[in-house]
This record gives sequence, C-alpha cells and structure tokens, in this order.
Amino acid sequence: MQPDVIIIGSGMGGATLAAALAPTGRRIVILERGERLADTPEARDPAAIFGRGYFKPKETWRDAAGAAFNPGNYACVGGNTKFYGAVLLRYRAEDFAPLRHIGGVTPGWPIAYAALEPWYSQAEALYRVRGDVAGDPTEPPHSAPYPFPPVPDEVDIVTLRQAFRAQGLRPSALPLGVDLDRWLARAPTTWDAFPCTTGAKSDAESCGLAEALRHPNVTLLTGAKVHRLLAEGRRVTGVEVDRDGAREVMTAPVVCLCAGAVMSAAQLLASANADHPNGLANRSDQVGRNFMNHNLTGLVAWNPLRRNRTVYEKTIQVNDFYLTGGPKDEPLGNIQMLGRITGPILAGETGLPLWLARHIADHSIHIMAMSEDLPDPKSRVLWRNGGVVLDWRRTNVAAHDLLVKRLARAMRKAGWPIVMSRGFPKSKPSHQCGTARMGDDPGASVVDRNLKAHDLDNLWIVDASVLPTSAAVNPSLTVAALALRAGDHIARAAA
Ligand SMILES: Cc1cc2nc3c(=O)[nH]c(=O)nc-3n(C[C@H](O)[C@H](O)[C@H](O)COP(=O)(O)OP(=O)(O)OC[C@H]3O[C@@H](n4cnc5c(N)ncnc54)[C@H](O)[C@@H]3O)c2cc1C
Repeated sequence: MQPDVIIIGSGMGGATLAAALAPTGRRIVILERGERLADTPEARDPAAIFGRGYFKPKETWRDAAGAAFNPGNYACVGGNTKFYGAVLLRYRAEDFAPLRHIGGVTPGWPIAYAALEPWYSQAEALYRVRGDVAGDPTEPPHSAPYPFPPVPDEVDIVTLRQAFRAQGLRPSALPLGVDLDRWLARAPTTWDAFPCTTGAKSDAESCGLAEALRHPNVTLLTGAKVHRLLAEGRRVTGVEVDRDGAREVMTAPVVCLCAGAVMSAAQLLASANADHPNGLANRSDQVGRNFMNHNLTGLVAWNPLRRNRTVYEKTIQVNDFYLTGGPKDEPLGNIQMLGRITGPILAGETGLPLWLARHIADHSIHIMAMSEDLPDPKSRVLWRNGGVVLDWRRTNVAAHDLLVKRLARAMRKAGWPIVMSRGFPKSKPSHQCGTARMGDDPGASVVDRNLKAHDLDNLWIVDASVLPTSAAVNPSLTVAALALRAGDHIARAAA
C-alpha cells in the first residue's frame, strides 16, 4: 500500500499528529522503531527501572569529550511519554515573547500564546488532563476548562500546601494526565519514570495513538527503524527503513519526522547527500543546534522524625518564582513535586545502602526545581561516525542555583530541616528540545510557524525539536498542541 503520509515516531508529536490527520481519510503509516511495552513485573519494579536500567534501549551516545553513555531516552510505542511524569502544563503566555533571564534574553516565538491556545484546549481534551485553572498566579487564559478535576493531594501534601501558604507562597494543582484509580490498581507506586502498561497514564500510546488507530486508514508498523531520509532538490523522495532484518524504501507525498529532539536532528544530519551536503533542512546550519533540556534539580527534604505516608506525592507546583525572583526581577523557574521517591529508587539513583535509602526516603519530601535552559547554538546534537554526539552546554545556571536555594529554604521553614539536592545528570535528556527550531527566518530556523521545513516542500518536523525556547515547564502538552495545529495545516495544505 502506498501511503499518503509517513509519520516517523509514535511519541507525543507523532501520535498526536496521527490523531489530527486520521479523520482526513488519508492513508497514514506510522513507523516506530520500538515495540509496545508488555505488562511485565519490571514495569512496577523500582530496582529494575532505577537500579538496572531495564527499559533503557541498548544504545550508546557520546558526550563532547568522547565519553560514551547510555541515555535515558526510550524507544517504544509512545516514546518517552510511556515513562513521563504526566505533567501536562501549558507554556505561560509570557514565554512566547522575548524574556530577560539572568543568563540572557530568550528569542520569543514566531506565534503568540493566543495562536496556540485553542490547540492547548484540544490537547487537554485528547490527553484527559486533570487540573484546576484557579490558584496558579502564572496560569494563562483557557478557552475551555480542564476536562477533569485535579488529582487529589495525599494528606502529607495537604500539610505541605498549608506550610507553603503560611510562607506567602501560592501552591496550585499540577495538571496531570493520569487515571489515579486505574494506576494504583496495578501497584501502589507513583507514575513518574515508571512505564505505563495498563492505559492508566494519558500518554502518546493510550491517547493520541489510540485515537488515530480507531481509523482504518491508519497503520502502525513497529520494529521499523528509519535509517535515513532520501531527498532531491526540495523534496523528500523516500524513507529508508530497517524492518524484519531487511532495508526497504517507502515513499509518500508527505513525510513527518517525529523522532524526538535528539533523534530527529540526528536523522536530518545523517541524511546528508550531494543536494544537501550539511544534512536535510539545514541550509540555516541550525539543525542539531540550540539543544535545551532544562536545569533540573531534585531535592530530598528530610526530617528523621516525620514519616512520609504518600504513595504518589506528585500533585502540586509553585510558580511564585516563575516570572520573578532574580536580583533584577528575572525569572527563576517552576517548582513541582517529584514522584514519590522510595528506598529502592533512592538506592538505585545514589548507590546508598538500601536500609539507609529506605529510612531517608520514608522520612522526606521529594520535590524538584526546574529552570529555563536558553537556546545556545553551541549546545548541539552532532552525527559522528554513525552515532549521536550530545554536546549539551547548560545555560542560565545562576537562576537555577537561586531557585534551588529558595526552595531549600522554603522546605526547611516548612518543617524538613535537612535538605539534600542533586542535579539531574546529562545522561538523562528527558526534556530535550530546540534542535530544529521554528521561526519565520529561513536563515535562522529549520521549520516555519506551521512546522514545515523551510528547505523542503513535503517535510514537516513535529516533535520537541521545533520548540524555540524551553520555558520552565514540562514540554509534552506544548508538543501535542503544536502537533494538532500542524495537523490542521497539513490537512489543508496538502488537500
Ligand atoms: C522519565 C521522564 C519523565 C518525563 N516527564 C514529563 C512530564 O511529566 N511532562 C512532560 O511534559 N514531559 C515529560 N517528559 C518529556 C516527554 O516525555 C517528552 O517531552 C515528549 O515525549 C517529547 O515528545 P516527542 O514527540 O518529541 O518525542 P518522543 O515522545 O520521545 O517520541 C519519539 C519517538 O520516535 C521514535 N523514534 C526515534 N528514532 C526513530 C527512528 N529512527 N525510526 C523510527 N522511530 C524512531 C521513538 O522510539 C519514539 O517513540 C519526561 C520524559 C522522561 C524520559
């Protein structure tokens, strides 16, 4: 069957785009390198996930110094969303305009918040988001309410909320895509970094893909790893794909690359040919550049006399420092609960003996500081000797350090006197974005405001790589909103 549309990747971008295009009746083939995750015991075994890296693909990337590492970047149906914390936050309206940070000024977006707002509402409906528009001082306008009320706080989080309020902070509900009863029915764990094998999380597989596959014109091919794209002049002429031990070339009038910010950039660079010597869609030399991943620090706030009775913990956020807090009023970032850290998770992540990890984890609160990483052309994904090199240069670190200090102080005041903090390692590019950024200037960006490649007439890039800024909120809902908007554009442009 000759498809009308090939979508590469079934993660947040690809699956949501498929859902958007499915009702057009076009023959859509989704090529996904991974398989569907099976419901094995490891799916809820923290020692397997955090200690043994059971679900990580056997893949090696290198850093700028040439050191090899096994990235926390998942390859399965649903992509990284299978493991995500299901926080589905909108970028704040201010994030779309240039913003002065301690580490520099962000470039702003080619579109304003208002242009993406209707698509955010649609994405929240598709991903069954549970939230509350009230209470967050930075919440942008919503044209539709959240489809479900927020996930309830556990009793120790109610106490934490009150303690934050007593300090003048304004905690609010984290918008989440999780059906709590269904999640807990499988095992009493949190959901952040645990894969979903029961459909309880609103992820790319259970929502976007499930919606797309209700249509008979949509086909998902798993174990289908794209090797490279073929292109002549301004057209992608084929997609080389490895499947069942053989390499084949598939063709379609519309090709959508949705392999994630690192792998989409890598694909474009690996597809260099005589017509496109620097890689596809790369006349601007921006492909792979501006890699961002957020500055993330996890805090374990310990009080040996206070037991943490939570199971999932991840229900509140604080945005009082999102737009302000720096020495000249610069933004510092978002604060949100981590998922519940248990003894085996802490032991797996730190190497502490299990008895000690258990004691600390069960007598502490687990929370995260997230600050914007700014676009820097030197921070980049490269394709070298057939493999990925990730040269991530962190930016805006001073703002992040200040946020961590503020949060540590707030936790001590709230009654957890010993605060330990640890930055997320570079081997976990969980909020990767920016490597094929959208913009109106073909000389300074890779895709236009509708996510079509400036240099190619039938290639769209629809994943986190197109984000021109990382903001300081989790990226998935914005990827989904952009995918719905791009789907509408593709449906009309290629009608
Ligand atoms: C542990 C963890 C927690 C997270 N928590 C949150 C959160 O709470 N909220 C949030 O908003 N975000 C969170 N994220 C980030 C979120 O998962 C990503 O932002 C989102 O998945 C990005 O969507 P994407 O379409 O760009 O890429 P992905 O969803 O990763 O999809 C890319 C897909 O392409 C496939 N692919 C790659 N290369 C090829 C190839 N050559 N051929 C065929 N297929 C290919 C991959 O297998 C994958 O399915 C988290 C991520 C992790 C890892």
